[in-house]
Amino acid sequence: MRRRAWLLRVGGAAVIATSLVFDASPLALLAVLFVLVVPFERLFPRHQQPFRRQRLLQDVGYALAQPAFAAVGVFVGAIIGALSLFWLPGLATRPIVESLSPFTQTIVAFVIFDFLIYWAHRWSHEIPLLWRFHALHHSIERMDWVSAFRNHPIDGIILAPPVAFLIGAGVPLETTGALAVLQALVGIFLHANVRWRLRPLQRLIITPEFHHWHHANDTEAINSNYSVFLPLWDIIFGTWFMPEDRRPERYGIDEYVPPTMVGQLAHPFRGLRSCRLSRSGGRRRRDEPSRSANA
Ligand SMILES: [Zn+2]
Ligand SMILES: [Zn+2]
Repeated sequence: MRRRAWLLRVGGAAVIATSLVFDASPLALLAVLFVLVVPFERLFPRHQQPFRRQRLLQDVGYALAQPAFAAVGVFVGAIIGALSLFWLPGLATRPIVESLSPFTQTIVAFVIFDFLIYWAHRWSHEIPLLWRFHALHHSIERMDWVSAFRNHPIDGIILAPPVAFLIGAGVPLETTGALAVLQALVGIFLHANVRWRLRPLQRLIITPEFHHWHHANDTEAINSNYSVFLPLWDIIFGTWFMPEDRRPERYGIDEYVPPTMVGQLAHPFRGLRSCRLSRSGGRRRRDEPSRSANA
């Protein structure tokens, strides 16, 4: 058993080292984010927690492995994007999109991207097959900027159909790529351990408080606040959850998540054949029957 755990750790170190050999930019990204975000987390902490919290090194490992994960994500995403056929309705809207000025085109692309991402994120909670990969991100128990990197590479493919749609619609690849990068960067700040509620803005743009509720292991908060840029979609589709009288206190999920990175990456594939592509599972409230009870 001890030998297996050791082998899994060596495997994780090999993934990170290989990724860094091909692209060392995450080191610079981590340094920049450290300088930008840590002072705010120390000056305005939402939760009193040590900087060297549990699983910090593992989350740093996830950050360093991003180039390798991105390569896997882009490869699988290209296949999923093509098979999703989302580019077909994109093609249908291309004459309208191409008639717009570049500025209007960017605004329209932003709104469409955000709307589609809302549903992609929501489905990754509601569809058991997708939740398998998204659950790793929700295993975060201490919210801070580094925790944002804890993602399964296949989890990112929820972006593929929206991107396929935008490409089909004739939106320049640079705009689509910039939106995807912006989404990832905004996501890092949303996880930060800062206590700002930003109440005047909370219905206009998403805030750390909004995303902290998304991660809360709280019966009422589960399956809420899916938006990435505009909370508008949660307000329209009834998943907005921002109580004024309390704040999120406890994060994480009650499901088992392996302790090592390699174990976590392999975990969603276990028993995959018996996993159905239905919307009746995914992350459940604690008062709902569990998937295993249903199976
Ligand atoms: Zn989520
Ligand atoms: Zn998150």
